[in-house]
Amino acid sequence: MIHEILPVGVLQCNCSIFGDESTREALVVDPGDEIESILEVVARHGLTVKAIVITHAHIDHIGGAQKMKRATGAPVYMNAADEELRRRLDIQASWLGMATPEAADVDADLRDGDRLLVGASEVNVLHTPGHTQGSVCLWMPGEGKLVAGDTLFRDSIGRTDLPGGDGRQILRSIHEKLMPLPGGTVVFPGHGESTTVEREREFNYFLRGM
Ligand SMILES: [Zn+2]
Repeated sequence: MIHEILPVGVLQCNCSIFGDESTREALVVDPGDEIESILEVVARHGLTVKAIVITHAHIDHIGGAQKMKRATGAPVYMNAADEELRRRLDIQASWLGMATPEAADVDADLRDGDRLLVGASEVNVLHTPGHTQGSVCLWMPGEGKLVAGDTLFRDSIGRTDLPGGDGRQILRSIHEKLMPLPGGTVVFPGHGESTTVEREREFNYFLRGM
């Protein structure tokens, strides 16, 4: 499986591009900005984007999704609980002092337990509310990878002080949905460096006493 990670935009959101080596099908996660660079990577590998997945509707993760959709014709997947955040990109843009991007038209709701395919590889959707109500993580058991959005970070967890955030809920989501995954699972957070489930179980201060 091809996996490229591009930190995009002012907040350096990690956009992931997964591509199947035989079918050349690709999944793009969180195209927050810099769509031209993402499309360059897609073209360099000779991939066709089949789906655009949004881990949550914060502007740094969803800001470029409509542009990406127009360029590729691929459907956009997002959990419906983030619909209000998606509709209010103008407010989010004002927090960051940036221009409001066009809101992405969502084609399908991403629900807990949903399964997407990149070629023959399974991508399992885990609904992990807390950072936002519609936050999801993507678990790829065959690859031993987890795309964690802004739910779990190396040595940290997602902030819960923004509208839709809930501190107790994010801990419950991490404890119930992420910590039971195999320890060796490599975690790709929405920002910053990758880690593993095992490492966070052991060293993440925010998860102590759980
Ligand atoms: Zn976020």
